[in-house]
Amino acid sequence: MKKPRAAMRSCCRKQASSKEGRKKHAPSSSQAKPSAPDGLAGRPEEVVLQASVSLYHLFRDTAEVTVFRESLLSWYNREKRDLPWRRQRVRWTWTGGRMLEVNQLWAGLGYYSRGRRLQEGARKVVEELGGHMPRTAETLQRLLPGVGRYTAGAIASIAFGQVTGIVDGNVVRVLCRVRAIGADPSSTLVSQQLWSLAQKLVDPAQPGDFNQAAMELGATVCTPQHPLCSQCPVQSLCRARQRVEREQLLASQSLPASPDMEECAPNTGQCQLCAPPTEPWDLTLGVANFPKKVSRRPPREECSATCVLEQLGAHGGARILLVQRPNSGLLAGLWEFPSVAVEPSGQCQRKALLQELQSWAGPVPATRLRHLGQVIHTFSHIKLTYQVFGLALEGQTPVTITPPGARWLTREEFRTAAVSTAMKKVFQVYEGQQPGNCKGSKRSQVSISSSRKKPSPSQQLLDNFFRPLICTDPPSLNSVAQ
Ligand code: SF4
Ligand code: ZN
Repeated sequence: MKKPRAAMRSCCRKQASSKEGRKKHAPSSSQAKPSAPDGLAGRPEEVVLQASVSLYHLFRDTAEVTVFRESLLSWYNREKRDLPWRRQRVRWTWTGGRMLEVNQLWAGLGYYSRGRRLQEGARKVVEELGGHMPRTAETLQRLLPGVGRYTAGAIASIAFGQVTGIVDGNVVRVLCRVRAIGADPSSTLVSQQLWSLAQKLVDPAQPGDFNQAAMELGATVCTPQHPLCSQCPVQSLCRARQRVEREQLLASQSLPASPDMEECAPNTGQCQLCAPPTEPWDLTLGVANFPKKVSRRPPREECSATCVLEQLGAHGGARILLVQRPNSGLLAGLWEFPSVAVEPSGQCQRKALLQELQSWAGPVPATRLRHLGQVIHTFSHIKLTYQVFGLALEGQTPVTITPPGARWLTREEFRTAAVSTAMKKVFQVYEGQQPGNCKGSKRSQVSISSSRKKPSPSQQLLDNFFRPLICTDPPSLNSVAQ
């Protein structure tokens, strides 16, 4: 029989009214004050504490906060990884020419819209802000396109020393475990609470290092599946560990539970930061009961017909046609083979694709359009199947007039162009079907996922990008900004 939970000291009796919470947890004069009230980082706690949350999930006093900071920072100074951007202070030279490289460098890494936004932000700094980078989280988020709360706080604290906490996926996991927050971390209430906790914890003397340390802890020690609690610098403050011990005691049925063991009100449904009573504790998960898993919808399935159109008799050797995607949406601004969205059933694929080809290159011989295979690429939210076609133009007048948004590239130019990994796989299928190629006898199917295990050549290029002293000329063919 389980020991009665009444034997334990329950914090549900200490459920905080908003007034009580404000009074008890208002920063003392010796405690880090939030940065200037900017409506962004360091939002007032009042917003959070209006809801019914238990003090169990907060830090008790300044001393506890200080122990957390010091333990985390001294661990970070000993253990931090040697990452390229930590070897030397990154000089964010947001010059237009430098940023022209972004999409080419990031092609294949899956960060297409981020690369484009970075480029837009660089332009805004150069063209509208006189080359002056905003220095606070509030102005960074307000003035630069695509800069959200996390990015703004990271730049402001790491590059400019602003005392502002940040919350990314790793920090969510660490804070949910340290404070035993079992409610949905994507909910507004929990998100506000996490930002408030991050702001309370950030070290006023070393905000950038503290934020990096919190993210590093989540990336290397407090990992999603197999956290290394025995190596954790904040283990003594971790309520997830305490909860594990308590649940083990309860499950053992033989040991008396410690009367000093704190708990919240996990089974009453009164605390909005605890998991609802309908979600019982899973002994097999241990601390990984936190944070609550947010169920993700499976990626939706889409289909596209795409064609490698090659001019064999073109001046200067064979060339292939690439067209630029729209500046918004999936893979915005990247270059691709002419493509058209189609029904997976295959009905009308050829007809739709021929119309698309003709809109870019004029009349093409429909009978030479060949289906070569398919490529399946899974993005985070879309599973896209490309039906790959090929068409070689030969023995006819070369196409010389190209509408805006289209280019004829040599194969060498294609290999360094800002194209997605999926398009590179499409080209592999095309090349594998060329006469004389030993792989050309069968239709090809390539399945690839956007999650990559090995560093790609692009990753190495990106690494080089963070070395500020390398001088490179802006490419003329490979960027979206031409
Ligand atoms: Fe994460 Fe374990 Fe450290 Fe708690 S003790 S913060 S669960 S690694
Ligand atoms: Zn609770």
